[in-house]
Amino acid sequence: MKIVAIAGGKGGTGKTFVALNLAYLALSRGYRTLFIDADVDNPSASAVLKPSIDRSEDVATFVPSIDSSRCRGCAKCVSMCPEHALVALPTGRILVIEDLCSGCSLCRLVCPFNAIAERKRVEGWIRVGSWNGMDVVVGELAVGSRKDAIVIKKLMDYASSIWSSHRYDYVFIDSPPGTGAKLYPIAKASKIVVVVTEPTPLGVSDLRKFFEFLESINFVGKIVVVLNKRGLSDRLEDEVRSIARSRNIPLIEIPYSRRVAECFASREIYVRRYGEDAIGEALKKLFDYVESM
Ligand code: SF4
Ligand code: SF4
Repeated sequence: MKIVAIAGGKGGTGKTFVALNLAYLALSRGYRTLFIDADVDNPSASAVLKPSIDRSEDVATFVPSIDSSRCRGCAKCVSMCPEHALVALPTGRILVIEDLCSGCSLCRLVCPFNAIAERKRVEGWIRVGSWNGMDVVVGELAVGSRKDAIVIKKLMDYASSIWSSHRYDYVFIDSPPGTGAKLYPIAKASKIVVVVTEPTPLGVSDLRKFFEFLESINFVGKIVVVLNKRGLSDRLEDEVRSIARSRNIPLIEIPYSRRVAECFASREIYVRRYGEDAIGEALKKLFDYVESM
């Protein structure tokens, strides 16, 4: 089984476009495929696929609820909270700053007066379904929640329980933009990372940052860079090529075309409609490359 993350530091480079087309090519070649939409803040791959959903689970976190009738104001919870999410007010009351709370429940464990009750807060959902014979798992962040890293971690735990009990040839993960805590569980689980970038100043600088991230977590899998939207800037395209060459990482180039955005807007998968043009051929070349890795 090949677990392939489609990632890249910057948003809007075409990660979802690449992920959907790779999954479609795997499916059309008869491979058993699982698609994970981990871009929880904006699960646009599932908006394109519109999978039929069989089940849905809440991703809930613990939030402390202080019982003022029991609390003695000792502030032990405040001093032990690793996230500084609890504040002792001059009145003796304990204030919970929910956005800072990680849900570790340590405060509840250390309170000597049993004054902290458990409250669950729904941060998002994991939905499981299928599309044209491909299994699909989607993570979705609740409106207003900032716990994307927690939702992604739970999503990956859930998805790994699915792929360890089924026989898939390919697992494709459409990753969120950025790096850090939210990308860590995805990169850790993946054997191959397809890093998608574009020839813009931010695309180039985020590509460098993305490699620094992979190095910081000692990523030992294989990497391929996709230079998407080729044709926008000769100079920046050369920079992307030189970054990949200096690390001895293979590079696949996909030319720019307005057709890609039009296809995406009409919820079409590019290779299904235009499999024979230069973009379709580049996507097939990328899949062939991943298949050979
Ligand atoms: S540890 Fe318990 S009793 Fe002490 S301040 Fe916190 S909630 Fe109140
Ligand atoms: S659950 Fe953890 S992070 Fe949240 S307030 Fe309690 S100790 Fe702090």
